[in-house]
Amino acid sequence: MPENSDRKRAIVIGGGITGLAACYRLQREAAQRNIQIDVTLLEATGRVGGVIQTEHRDDFLIEHGPDAFISTKPAAKALCEELGIADQFVGTNPKVRQSFVTRNGTLHPVPEGFYMMAPGSLKPFLKTPLFSWHGKLRMAMDLFIPRRERDIDEAVAHFVRRRLGTEAFTRIAQPMIGGIYTSDAENLSLKSTFPRFLEMEKTHGSIIKALRAQRKQAAATSQDTSGARYSLFLSFKSGMQTLVDALAETVSSSIRLNAPVEQIQQNTDGTGWQVSLATGEPLNSELLCIALPAVQTGALIESVSSPLATKLRTIPYASSATVNLAFRRPDITHPLDGMGFVVPATENLSIIGCSFSSIKFENRAPEEHVLLRAFIGEPISKRAESDLIQLCQTDLTPLLGIKEMPRFATVNKHTQAMAQYQVGHQEVVNDIERLTSKLQGLALAGNGYHGIGIPDCIRSGETAAISLLDA
Ligand SMILES: Cc1cc2nc3c(=O)[nH]c(=O)nc-3n(C[C@H](O)[C@H](O)[C@H](O)COP(=O)(O)OP(=O)(O)OC[C@H]3O[C@@H](n4cnc5c(N)ncnc54)[C@H](O)[C@@H]3O)c2cc1C
Repeated sequence: MPENSDRKRAIVIGGGITGLAACYRLQREAAQRNIQIDVTLLEATGRVGGVIQTEHRDDFLIEHGPDAFISTKPAAKALCEELGIADQFVGTNPKVRQSFVTRNGTLHPVPEGFYMMAPGSLKPFLKTPLFSWHGKLRMAMDLFIPRRERDIDEAVAHFVRRRLGTEAFTRIAQPMIGGIYTSDAENLSLKSTFPRFLEMEKTHGSIIKALRAQRKQAAATSQDTSGARYSLFLSFKSGMQTLVDALAETVSSSIRLNAPVEQIQQNTDGTGWQVSLATGEPLNSELLCIALPAVQTGALIESVSSPLATKLRTIPYASSATVNLAFRRPDITHPLDGMGFVVPATENLSIIGCSFSSIKFENRAPEEHVLLRAFIGEPISKRAESDLIQLCQTDLTPLLGIKEMPRFATVNKHTQAMAQYQVGHQEVVNDIERLTSKLQGLALAGNGYHGIGIPDCIRSGETAAISLLDA
């Protein structure tokens, strides 16, 4: 696109974090390049933020969607610094580092140094009652099992069983992975979800050896006076909504709420796009960014490219519900001396995990109170909110020694919100990108392609914006 070209129009569909980041980057980058641009962001509902939503109620800070983002992936942190909101960052509570796993109806601490599926420290691993001696010996075999040479995608479950055994999978890896992806690790692609473990196997020939090497390195770095600037997981004093609000404020004149897009069409000469709202109102633009979950993008793109729509629809999405429950602190007997816990499928509970939200982050509940946040996976759509609350209470009461009803409980259903990167995902994304590149002025972004976390979505939105301006 030449500098000082005629005024361009860009439309972004979807006002979640991806669409907001795309809209922001389109405006900023165009200004830097001296490109005159009008950007319109179309959001179906009456608010932006998508699954990110913070509520303040009775002095509790409630997260209905994500409660933090990882600081080691730079896109989110960098955007916050650019927006001037980095001074509002809060890290997870440094006083409580441990998490728990449920086993036979009791919460057991994840042994110190343990990471997702394997131990990085010997003593706590040997002492933990989470695994049998047979299971521990099988995990230790990871030190001797040769690395796999063939570079084919492998399911996470298969990888864990191959290297560390069935017990490592069922008792810890499955619930940890389920807690992040709300998904069945049997079909989840290792390459697309946890490439780090693949790398560990490649470079160290063993996950345990790799984790021990990392711990040594981390210990050496912590002696370095510079130290880590940020906690591994970050939120904001007023919750994740801070990020949404800061972005929305910056691009406010571009946002159109209650503007669900029903159809898109490419102009017959291939040089622009017509976007039709549910009201029938048509909008035209040269540039179009679709920032929706892949499954929804597939539905919109059907009329433009059926092969692309078919590929997009092969990326499955899972649903989940977050249930926030506010208790008086004396009504819970468990010391709540951790961030929360995950639940293996073998425990046969309804919840897949629970964060001790007001412990994990300080100042999120009034004095003498505590906020818990439980997660329920499929099937949630047909269940009434009151049933979901009841299921959580039934599971949490014996685990945490709850003596009284919660002061209040709120439910948020996230239907088809979590992309499931199945084995072969990378090839599907390659095909999607190849087919998209044939459609001039179109870019796709969101959690369906290169990562589901907030930093991944921001990077995806920003990359889409830049690719549209580069074309
Ligand atoms: C319960 C839950 C907890 C999570 N926890 C974390 C976490 O702690 N940390 C982390 O990093 N990530 C977390 N994630 C993942 C991350 O939050 C999401 O992947 C990310 O926020 C998705 O953003 P998005 O903008 O791509 O999609 P969405 O948030 O789904 O936004 C899409 C937007 O598009 C709008 N829309 C849909 N159809 C149309 C249409 N036809 N026309 C116009 N607008 C439309 C929707 O209304 C919505 O606002 C979590 C996800 C969930 C569901």
